Amino acid sequence: MTTQPALTAPGTVTFAGAGPGSADLLTMGAFRAMQEADVVIHDRLVGQEVLDLIPARTTRVDVGKEGFGPSTPQGAINALIVGHAGTGARVLRLKGGDCAIFGRLDEEIEALERAGIAFHILPGLTSASAAAAAIGQSLTKRGRNRGLRIVTGHDMDGFADQDWKGLARTGEVAAIYMGKKASRFLQGRLMMHGASPDTPVTLVENASRPDQRIIEARLSTLADCAARLTGPAILLYGLAPRAAAHTLPLTDQNEATA
Ligand code: SAH
Repeated sequence: MTTQPALTAPGTVTFAGAGPGSADLLTMGAFRAMQEADVVIHDRLVGQEVLDLIPARTTRVDVGKEGFGPSTPQGAINALIVGHAGTGARVLRLKGGDCAIFGRLDEEIEALERAGIAFHILPGLTSASAAAAAIGQSLTKRGRNRGLRIVTGHDMDGFADQDWKGLARTGEVAAIYMGKKASRFLQGRLMMHGASPDTPVTLVENASRPDQRIIEARLSTLADCAARLTGPAILLYGLAPRAAAHTLPLTDQNEATA
């Protein structure tokens, strides 16, 4: 068997996407980097199944915990990463989903660049992919949508402004991250720009996790449906669940039809 090259190195930082939560959706690369790392610095959104794969000997830093909070200032996280790498440790910065989607990756990279620390990125599976899979849908479809928009419900300035006119066109599909609080705003803006109140919107909460929940909405009911969410959720604008999509385990299904 050939030995694979290391994915971490002393005094450097490896950024990795941990996927949406299920260990089945973790990449082999992220898994390998977890085994190699001396220190793993992770977010609140990294799934428990994934965290359970971190070896006991590894130093773990949760930058999403209460106290050191979900609102841990980005500067403090940057300093933490730089500090650990500065000691010569193999640092793994693990982020939920794909580390390059709404993950403040650039801010952390810039801090490393300022400190002269090398880094490496291992992409992960973003939660929108898991959400679409959960409802048996494709994110793109010939003749329906020529593109997929990845948008955020809010940003540093509050609710995020988007190309509402473009989004309101029939057949558009968008994966909306962080859209829970912005749902009434989104609903209003889209309808104001001519989107049909009947446009399907599916809310997928805790995608790929044991507590995954799918809420089928229309644009007209979006805000009321979003009010029922308690965990992280992707709003799949323009997509309704496919009736034949079923949940795991597949064996039950096979037995039932045998
Ligand atoms: N880098 C992440 C996104 C981070 S932004 C990714 O690629 O998935 C945080 C938002 O991601 C949450 O508000 C939610 O909209 C979404 N999210 C992350 N994990 C999720 C999950 N397991 N199920 C549903 N939405 C999730």
